[in-house]
Amino acid sequence: MASPRAARAGTTLGALLARLPAPPPRRYPAVQLIPRRWLNLQEYQSKKLMADHGVTVQRFFVADSANDALEAAKRLKATEIVLKAQILAGGRGKGVFNSGLKGGVHLTKDPLVVGQLAKQMIGYNLATKQTPKDGVKVKKVMVAEALNISRETYFAILMDRACNGPVMVGSPQGGVDIEEVAAATPDLIFKEEIDIFEGLKSTQALQMADNLGFKGPLQQQAADQIKKLYDLFLKVDATQIEVNPFGETPQGHVVCFDAKINFDDNAEFRQKEIFAMDDKSENEPIENEAAKYDLKYIGLDGNIACFVNGAGLAMATCDIISLNGGKPANFLDLGGGVKEAQVYQAFKLLTADPKVEAILVNIFGGIVNCAIIANGITKACRELELKVPLVVRLEGTNVLEAHRILNESGLPITSAADLEDAAKKAVDSVENK
Ligand code: GDP
Ligand code: MN
Repeated sequence: MASPRAARAGTTLGALLARLPAPPPRRYPAVQLIPRRWLNLQEYQSKKLMADHGVTVQRFFVADSANDALEAAKRLKATEIVLKAQILAGGRGKGVFNSGLKGGVHLTKDPLVVGQLAKQMIGYNLATKQTPKDGVKVKKVMVAEALNISRETYFAILMDRACNGPVMVGSPQGGVDIEEVAAATPDLIFKEEIDIFEGLKSTQALQMADNLGFKGPLQQQAADQIKKLYDLFLKVDATQIEVNPFGETPQGHVVCFDAKINFDDNAEFRQKEIFAMDDKSENEPIENEAAKYDLKYIGLDGNIACFVNGAGLAMATCDIISLNGGKPANFLDLGGGVKEAQVYQAFKLLTADPKVEAILVNIFGGIVNCAIIANGITKACRELELKVPLVVRLEGTNVLEAHRILNESGLPITSAADLEDAAKKAVDSVENK
């Protein structure tokens, strides 16, 4: 089972579009790890980026108290106001707060009502289809000028592995859950690949606008918005920009009513301003602590902690634990270029989790030097007075030296010959406690 957090952070859109044939049934319970994005922006932050790039969004303010929301509503001087809870998950419109309030998106003409509603939003958990069961605490609300919507469409641009580049996806049936549209009426989903070297052609943008049902002068306007969204997509190194609803007003304007942008983590070095806006407040504290040391932590719900390098090895490790009848508690990905101090921190984080009853180290030394890992492990075991069984499988660069360090440490460390052996020993150590 993936943690709710991991499940929520992933998008299923790319997978959905790939329309892959169903995989053969698995013989054992697989651990599903949905790749997570490390940078998360709230709707108001995404909309600020969009506005800065000429994309049409509503005027808005952000508030973190009911009183600020009330003041913002007054300052807007709008005929109608839309109040939106800011959490990273979608489906807010149909969500429920633990204050009893229904709906994370509300329309009203009265600023006083904005204040009253904000009071039932801020500080309370909002549960939607995409959040864990208990919901996510709302810390901020967006107070925006409401516009009438005559038609809601769906528009997204994403980097699609299957197409080796950007793809536009649109549907005239927007506002609702796009997965449902894709399942019930797949012919209402339009997909158009973009050649990243040639860029988005005007004809393509116009065609997509037409597919979305924008007619007459609205077609050109929608195509212009689509082009600006594509420019933004490239400029900020996005992996996905999703606008649902991409709507039309009775006054004849094309407006982005909602916004979700995902970013390519590898571009952090050239997108410093955007990464500085990262909203980590919804992360587990342990994830943020891990990130401080350049470690990636993902919580799961079993009892065997996995200490690995690389996401692929992490998944293989989790799978093989499941295959042997165990359950991973979490995994911590060291990455390459690891220092001894990181190994120590990693152990500290793993053992801080009370669910952990055994630790399985599975490191394949390529760039990573196994001796550094071994030194980090022995230091951590001594200083943290490790109380749970530790099974270690090291392979690759400098592995003989690593084994010498572990053997001579005198610490109760179980060595494993290979991954299968390591998983068996870790599962046994939990069962025979
Ligand atoms: P989500 O539920 O988290 O996807 O939040 P959205 O921002 O998409 O809002 C949910 C729904 O509220 C939209 O699909 C619209 O139908 C409606 N909505 C949002 N903003 C406005 C607005 O300014 N005017 C009107 N009339 N409806 C809005
Ligand atoms: Mn939406």
